[in-house]
Amino acid sequence: MRTPLVAANWKMNGSREFAEQFFKGLDLEGVGAQVAICPPFPYLSLLAEKAGERVATGAQNLSEQPSGAFTGEVSASMLEDWGVRYVIVGHSERRSLYGESSELVARKFSAARSAGLIPILCVGESQEEREQERTLDVIDAQLQAVVSINGGDCWENAVVAYEPVWAIGTGMTATPEQAQEVHRFIRNRLGEAGAKVQILYGGSVKSGNAAALFAQADIDGALVGGASLDAEEFSKICRAA
Ligand code: 13P
Repeated sequence: MRTPLVAANWKMNGSREFAEQFFKGLDLEGVGAQVAICPPFPYLSLLAEKAGERVATGAQNLSEQPSGAFTGEVSASMLEDWGVRYVIVGHSERRSLYGESSELVARKFSAARSAGLIPILCVGESQEEREQERTLDVIDAQLQAVVSINGGDCWENAVVAYEPVWAIGTGMTATPEQAQEVHRFIRNRLGEAGAKVQILYGGSVKSGNAAALFAQADIDGALVGGASLDAEEFSKICRAA
């Protein structure tokens, strides 16, 4: 019923040469999932050109403001102009390294939707929060912050990515059962649109663990960091979805 989505988050990696080589190595033959690549801003147009219709492009961030004196920022309408389809909001690196509050994330989510972009909202708990058995409360608060600004019907044309902070870049993946429990919880919190929303898992996804994660009822694909920098490995993950 839900088409899987596999999205690459290149983070601050790559170059023009890398992007060109990546497309030579990408093999999506037989892949049924939707595929998106989120490169750094300067490579978005190159990617849109190379990727064609089969692969959508996504940005990793956007401004919550529509336009104006906000040096260094990029607006939702500029991304839309670039042919961008998705935009990641609330990645844990933005929350923790750049101090993005849940309220700011909610405003970015709103800016994305009003320009017709599909936000990929990242939520997830830290190691400490998991140990204190606060995982579901933390995720609930992250989702509610978005609802409080955008309304309960805001999940239509949005994607949610569950990324446990302790699993990002650490090689420690949540077990399929741990992830499924949180994905089910998220789906139940999304209201009427819940059954249709793609909920992705992110955190040390590789070709070796992807199929077991994707076999879970509420895991609809992945947001892939490190492993998305290797075209062959990323192609294998897409094939597993
Ligand atoms: P890794 O796949 O490198 O753990 O990163 C996950 C992530 O943060 C994707 O947004």
